[in-house]
Amino acid sequence: MSDTGTLEALVQALRRLPGVGVKSASRMAFHLLQNDREGAELLSRALHEASSRVRHCERCHTFTENPVCDTCLDDGRDAARLCVVETPADQAALERTGAYKGYYYVLMGRLSPLDGIGPRDIGVQQLLQRASDGVVQEVILATNFTAEGEATAHVISEALQRKGVGFTRLARGVPIGSELEYVDLGTIAHALADRR
Ligand SMILES: [Zn+2]
Repeated sequence: MSDTGTLEALVQALRRLPGVGVKSASRMAFHLLQNDREGAELLSRALHEASSRVRHCERCHTFTENPVCDTCLDDGRDAARLCVVETPADQAALERTGAYKGYYYVLMGRLSPLDGIGPRDIGVQQLLQRASDGVVQEVILATNFTAEGEATAHVISEALQRKGVGFTRLARGVPIGSELEYVDLGTIAHALADRR
Protein backbone atom coordinates (compact mmCIF):
# COMPACT_ATOMS: atom_id res chain seq x y z
CA MET A 1 0.00 0.00 0.00
CA SER A 2 1.06 3.58 -0.58
CA ASP A 3 2.14 5.77 2.30
CA THR A 4 -1.43 6.91 3.06
CA GLY A 5 -3.31 3.87 1.74
CA THR A 6 -4.38 2.76 5.19
CA LEU A 7 -5.79 6.19 6.00
CA GLU A 8 -7.62 6.29 2.69
CA ALA A 9 -9.13 2.86 3.43
CA LEU A 10 -10.41 4.17 6.78
CA VAL A 11 -12.01 7.20 5.12
CA GLN A 12 -13.68 4.96 2.55
CA ALA A 13 -14.95 2.65 5.31
CA LEU A 14 -16.42 5.59 7.28
CA ARG A 15 -18.18 6.79 4.15
CA ARG A 16 -20.32 3.68 4.26
CA LEU A 17 -22.22 5.19 7.19
CA PRO A 18 -25.51 6.84 6.19
CA GLY A 19 -25.22 10.55 5.54
CA VAL A 20 -21.43 10.60 5.74
CA GLY A 21 -19.68 12.17 2.77
CA VAL A 22 -15.97 12.28 2.01
CA LYS A 23 -15.48 15.52 3.98
CA SER A 24 -16.97 14.33 7.27
CA ALA A 25 -15.37 10.91 6.85
CA SER A 26 -11.97 12.59 6.57
CA ARG A 27 -12.76 14.73 9.60
CA MET A 28 -13.69 11.64 11.66
CA ALA A 29 -10.59 9.74 10.59
CA PHE A 30 -8.37 12.72 11.37
CA HIS A 31 -10.00 13.19 14.79
CA LEU A 32 -9.61 9.54 15.76
CA LEU A 33 -6.00 9.28 14.67
CA GLN A 34 -4.87 12.70 15.88
CA ASN A 35 -6.86 13.18 19.11
CA ASP A 36 -8.39 9.95 20.24
CA ARG A 37 -6.44 6.75 19.64
CA GLU A 38 -8.18 5.17 22.61
CA GLY A 39 -11.55 5.97 21.04
CA ALA A 40 -10.35 4.48 17.77
CA GLU A 41 -9.44 1.22 19.52
CA LEU A 42 -12.75 1.21 21.38
CA LEU A 43 -14.72 1.77 18.18
CA SER A 44 -12.79 -0.91 16.38
CA ARG A 45 -13.38 -3.49 19.12
CA ALA A 46 -17.06 -2.59 19.54
CA LEU A 47 -17.68 -2.86 15.80
CA HIS A 48 -15.93 -6.18 15.59
CA GLU A 49 -17.82 -7.61 18.58
CA ALA A 50 -21.21 -6.35 17.41
CA SER A 51 -20.83 -7.50 13.84
CA SER A 52 -19.71 -10.95 14.90
CA ARG A 53 -22.26 -11.45 17.70
CA VAL A 54 -25.46 -9.58 16.88
CA ARG A 55 -27.90 -11.52 14.74
CA HIS A 56 -31.64 -11.58 13.99
CA CYS A 57 -34.18 -13.17 16.33
CA GLU A 58 -35.62 -16.30 14.73
CA ARG A 59 -39.14 -15.30 15.74
CA CYS A 60 -39.42 -11.51 15.41
CA HIS A 61 -36.36 -10.59 13.34
CA THR A 62 -35.06 -7.93 15.72
CA PHE A 63 -31.42 -7.72 16.78
CA THR A 64 -30.33 -10.14 19.50
CA GLU A 65 -27.24 -12.03 20.59
CA ASN A 66 -29.26 -15.22 21.08
CA PRO A 67 -31.30 -17.36 18.68
CA VAL A 68 -34.50 -15.91 20.19
CA CYS A 69 -34.74 -12.44 21.81
CA ASP A 70 -35.91 -11.72 25.39
CA THR A 71 -39.26 -10.28 24.28
CA CYS A 72 -40.12 -13.42 22.30
CA LEU A 73 -39.04 -15.58 25.26
CA ASP A 74 -41.41 -13.70 27.60
CA ASP A 75 -44.29 -16.18 27.88
CA GLY A 76 -46.43 -13.77 29.90
CA ARG A 77 -47.43 -12.02 26.67
CA ASP A 78 -50.63 -12.32 24.67
CA ALA A 79 -49.73 -14.69 21.81
CA ALA A 80 -52.89 -13.77 19.87
CA ARG A 81 -51.53 -10.28 19.12
CA LEU A 82 -48.63 -9.58 16.81
CA CYS A 83 -47.57 -5.98 16.32
CA VAL A 84 -45.59 -5.10 13.18
CA VAL A 85 -43.09 -2.26 13.56
CA GLU A 86 -40.33 -0.93 11.34
CA THR A 87 -37.45 -0.73 13.81
CA PRO A 88 -36.37 -1.78 17.32
CA ALA A 89 -36.68 1.92 18.28
CA ASP A 90 -40.37 1.90 17.27
CA GLN A 91 -40.85 -1.29 19.26
CA ALA A 92 -39.25 0.37 22.28
CA ALA A 93 -41.62 3.34 21.88
CA LEU A 94 -44.65 1.01 21.98
CA GLU A 95 -43.21 -0.87 24.95
CA ARG A 96 -42.78 2.37 26.89
CA THR A 97 -46.53 3.10 26.66
CA GLY A 98 -47.20 -0.07 28.67
CA ALA A 99 -50.44 -0.32 26.66
CA TYR A 100 -49.45 -3.34 24.58
CA LYS A 101 -48.86 -6.85 25.90
CA GLY A 102 -48.55 -8.92 22.76
CA TYR A 103 -45.57 -9.97 20.65
CA TYR A 104 -43.81 -8.12 17.86
CA TYR A 105 -42.49 -8.58 14.38
CA VAL A 106 -39.74 -6.11 13.52
CA LEU A 107 -39.33 -5.45 9.79
CA MET A 108 -35.92 -3.87 10.30
CA GLY A 109 -36.83 -1.39 7.58
CA ARG A 110 -39.71 -0.43 5.31
CA LEU A 111 -40.61 -0.89 1.69
CA SER A 112 -38.73 1.61 -0.42
CA PRO A 113 -38.76 0.77 -4.12
CA LEU A 114 -36.55 3.77 -4.93
CA ASP A 115 -33.81 2.37 -2.69
CA GLY A 116 -34.37 -1.12 -4.04
CA ILE A 117 -35.91 -2.37 -0.75
CA GLY A 118 -38.68 -4.83 -1.59
CA PRO A 119 -40.92 -7.25 0.40
CA ARG A 120 -38.14 -9.84 0.53
CA ASP A 121 -35.73 -7.41 2.23
CA ILE A 122 -38.12 -6.71 5.09
CA GLY A 123 -39.08 -10.37 5.56
CA VAL A 124 -42.75 -10.15 4.58
CA GLN A 125 -42.83 -13.89 3.79
CA GLN A 126 -41.46 -14.71 7.25
CA LEU A 127 -44.04 -12.40 8.81
CA LEU A 128 -46.87 -14.11 6.91
CA GLN A 129 -45.72 -17.50 8.11
CA ARG A 130 -45.60 -16.29 11.69
CA ALA A 131 -49.01 -14.58 11.40
CA SER A 132 -50.73 -17.67 9.99
CA ASP A 133 -49.51 -20.07 12.68
CA GLY A 134 -53.08 -20.42 13.97
CA VAL A 135 -52.24 -18.72 17.28
CA VAL A 136 -52.10 -15.12 16.07
CA GLN A 137 -55.61 -13.63 15.86
CA GLU A 138 -54.74 -10.02 15.16
CA VAL A 139 -51.80 -8.42 13.40
CA ILE A 140 -51.47 -4.78 14.42
CA LEU A 141 -49.82 -2.72 11.71
CA ALA A 142 -47.76 -0.12 13.54
CA THR A 143 -45.52 1.01 10.72
CA ASN A 144 -44.83 4.74 10.66
CA PHE A 145 -47.25 7.30 9.24
CA THR A 146 -44.87 8.28 6.48
CA ALA A 147 -45.51 7.56 2.79
CA GLU A 148 -43.22 4.54 2.92
CA GLY A 149 -44.65 3.30 6.22
CA GLU A 150 -48.19 3.54 4.83
CA ALA A 151 -47.20 1.74 1.64
CA THR A 152 -45.58 -0.99 3.75
CA ALA A 153 -48.74 -1.39 5.88
CA HIS A 154 -50.81 -1.54 2.69
CA VAL A 155 -48.75 -4.30 1.08
CA ILE A 156 -48.72 -6.36 4.29
CA SER A 157 -52.45 -5.90 4.87
CA GLU A 158 -53.23 -7.17 1.36
CA ALA A 159 -51.08 -10.24 1.93
CA LEU A 160 -52.73 -10.89 5.31
CA GLN A 161 -56.16 -10.54 3.74
CA ARG A 162 -55.29 -13.18 1.15
CA LYS A 163 -54.22 -15.48 3.99
CA GLY A 164 -57.38 -14.73 5.96
CA VAL A 165 -55.48 -13.31 8.94
CA GLY A 166 -57.18 -10.49 10.86
CA PHE A 167 -55.36 -7.17 11.07
CA THR A 168 -55.77 -3.64 12.38
CA ARG A 169 -53.90 -0.39 11.76
CA LEU A 170 -52.90 2.05 14.47
CA ALA A 171 -55.52 4.80 14.57
CA ARG A 172 -54.81 8.26 13.23
CA GLY A 173 -53.82 10.72 15.89
CA VAL A 174 -50.23 9.88 15.28
CA PRO A 175 -49.32 12.89 13.09
CA ILE A 176 -49.01 12.18 9.36
CA GLY A 177 -45.40 11.95 8.27
CA SER A 178 -44.18 11.02 11.73
CA GLU A 179 -42.09 8.16 13.06
CA LEU A 180 -43.31 6.41 16.20
CA GLU A 181 -39.92 6.74 17.81
CA TYR A 182 -40.50 10.51 18.11
CA VAL A 183 -44.17 10.52 19.06
CA ASP A 184 -45.21 11.07 22.69
CA LEU A 185 -46.36 8.05 24.69
CA GLY A 186 -49.95 9.24 25.27
CA THR A 187 -50.53 9.65 21.54
CA ILE A 188 -49.17 6.19 20.77
CA ALA A 189 -51.24 4.63 23.55
CA HIS A 190 -54.40 6.25 22.11
CA ALA A 191 -53.56 5.18 18.58
CA LEU A 192 -53.13 1.65 19.90
CA ALA A 193 -56.42 1.69 21.85
CA ASP A 194 -58.36 3.13 18.88
CA ARG A 195 -56.86 0.83 16.26
CA ARG A 196 -59.22 -0.54 13.62
ZN1 LIG B 1 -37.73 -11.88 19.01
